[in-house]
Amino acid sequence: MKGLYVHIPFCKSICTYCDFPKQIAKESKKEKYLSYLLKELKLYEEQGQLKDIRSVYIGGGTPNSLSITQLERLLIALRPYLSNALENTIEINSELFTEEQAKLFSKYNINRVSIGVQTFDSTLLKTINRLHSFDIVKSTIRALRKYGIENINIDMMYGLPGQDMHILKKDIRRALSLKVPHISYYSLILEEKTVLEYQLKHHQIQLPDDDLIADMADYLTQKLKMRQFIHYEISNYAKKGYESIHNIGYWECEEYVGIGASAAGYLHPKRYKNAVSLPEYYEKHLLEEIFLTEEDAKKEYMLLGLRMLRGISISAYYKRFKTYPKMDFDLDKLYKMGLIEEINGFIRIKEDKIWVANTIFEKFVG
Ligand code: SF4
Repeated sequence: MKGLYVHIPFCKSICTYCDFPKQIAKESKKEKYLSYLLKELKLYEEQGQLKDIRSVYIGGGTPNSLSITQLERLLIALRPYLSNALENTIEINSELFTEEQAKLFSKYNINRVSIGVQTFDSTLLKTINRLHSFDIVKSTIRALRKYGIENINIDMMYGLPGQDMHILKKDIRRALSLKVPHISYYSLILEEKTVLEYQLKHHQIQLPDDDLIADMADYLTQKLKMRQFIHYEISNYAKKGYESIHNIGYWECEEYVGIGASAAGYLHPKRYKNAVSLPEYYEKHLLEEIFLTEEDAKKEYMLLGLRMLRGISISAYYKRFKTYPKMDFDLDKLYKMGLIEEINGFIRIKEDKIWVANTIFEKFVG
């Protein structure tokens, strides 16, 4: 079984922290993009790569910045997969959301919606250049439920410029009041060549210090767990049964086909990346292909699998590689340092060490 990722690189406005490939575009540009995207889809169809799709994920960018006609054109092309997959997600921004979109999602079996929220604080929203409000998000969720879509994620962020504990606590209270079954809570990452980086360099904004960020991570995790959210991946929390099938596929190194500019894919033993700029994508969609050696594949398996709190199944590792993690990696040091543990046949990062996961990951890189 495979995943299918579809990238829509258009947004209505640009968030200050964002370094994803995206752009603000005219309708004609979006039309042209869709034509090439569907051509690429056809190519994988013809190669027989889309026979057993378990999950579809339409991400961006902002997929619901497409017009209703464009969205429907895309969903019609994806229908054979949307009808059979277990989980079909679309990312949306709520300020662009309409009931007509919810109707369309429901018609084409989109059964999971991920809403980009980051914060509900109006000052912070302005700082990061996001255009929604708590009320807009609330009414989006209400409309999605009206059309039978209950599996809703909200993407939140901590460590935003000017964010303090008081704002974070209020954000969490509001997030919980929405009663969605999945919350992703990401730590802001300062990326190069973003507006945020410029603002920071020119002392226009200030970021919370590391201690405060660690306190925020601790607080939000405790708070969500108290409300029966399972912390199942570093940045992901879900009510039982609502863990993202598509994303777990990435962390378990399952194969997936990625289509669209800047999309990546994994068709064992090959990982590929598509061209980022639209003209390059139109000329030749593939940018690079990397063939993984057995050693690369093992490292990736550990790196990605340890992101999940349950860790890596030793028997699954054996099934895949006919060897054991202990034989392939020097894990003793990590055990002695109290960073990882083995429980019920799984190797995992200790829960209280999940925030230093990067140190642990470095062990497997290089
Ligand atoms: S909406 Fe998403 S992709 Fe678009 S600029 Fe903001 S963070 Fe980036």
